[in-house]
Amino acid sequence: KAKEAGRARMTLYDPAMDADREERNALELDLRVAIESGDLTLAYQPLIDASTHEMNGVEALVRWNRPGHGPVSPEVFIPIAETSGLIEALGLFVLRKACETAKQWPELRVAVNVSPGQFRNPAFTDYVRYVLKQTEIEAQRVTLEITEGYMIQNPQRTRQSIERLKTLGVKIALDDFGSGFSSIGYLRQFGFDRIKIDRSLVEGVTESDSQREMLQATVALARSLDIPVTAEGIETEEQALAVRLFGCDCLQGYFFSKPVPADRITEMLEARRALDAMPRQITAA
Ligand code: C2E
Ligand code: MG
Ligand code: MG
Ligand code: MG
Repeated sequence: KAKEAGRARMTLYDPAMDADREERNALELDLRVAIESGDLTLAYQPLIDASTHEMNGVEALVRWNRPGHGPVSPEVFIPIAETSGLIEALGLFVLRKACETAKQWPELRVAVNVSPGQFRNPAFTDYVRYVLKQTEIEAQRVTLEITEGYMIQNPQRTRQSIERLKTLGVKIALDDFGSGFSSIGYLRQFGFDRIKIDRSLVEGVTESDSQREMLQATVALARSLDIPVTAEGIETEEQALAVRLFGCDCLQGYFFSKPVPADRITEMLEARRALDAMPRQITAA
């Protein structure tokens, strides 16, 4: 108690702490305005089929250009949205926008990140159902990506939420696998449709044998559950070759493409359609 009071007093009188808090409040306020006025945008990063090397999906990633400050990373503002009650509005915006946009890309699946704060909401399934209906996207094209943090705290509820969501037809992926504590026995019960290997495991794969073995073992672990595996954060050809060899069927990373505006994805698809429509003789020549 005494310690707590001491800390409270310190926060009160420490000008640096005041400045921090003020900055955080200002950021939160700006974020609220951005959400309300629809100033957030989405970037889409291609997901690449490891055997054909064609784009077969995209991951939607939220972007915020904060007025007077420039772009703020989602790693910074998502946690703030989580603790300030903004995550639901933000999440709903992202889900709706991603589904609406992906509607025009019938050959692609679309992955949308969901934070614990959304997932925890008992009404989450209802609003996913609502967005699916409103945007008329085929549910099986939509993947919701969740990270393991929340899962670990509430395994029972997570399992139930996943079950309910899957009755809508959407797919569920476990994001950032290998970055935390997931243990195999316990992953099995959740019924994930896909596992995404965290970028941190892919990073050092061509640098040392031990890192390579670590990645290989992690992919093998995921595959032992008979779940398809995506590798994220592929920046080099060597990394792409390695993760493909280990059994990842889907690749994502700057080596293939950075997250890009929706129009770029449309252009990529159009270019591909044009190529597909060319007479065989010409393409072969
Ligand atoms: P994530 O879901 O694991 O997304 C992948 C992140 O890795 C993205 O960062 C992407 O731009 C980055 N990335 C992809 N390929 C490469 C690569 O080759 N090299 C490197 N260095 N980075 C790569 P981003 O967009 O900054 O997002 C960071 C995290 O913020 C996401 O990690 C996700 O957890 C969260 N996030 C992003 N958008 C949303 C959203 O709409 N809703 C929620 N709840 N979270 C989001
Ligand atoms: Mg993700
Ligand atoms: Mg990830
Ligand atoms: Mg990540």
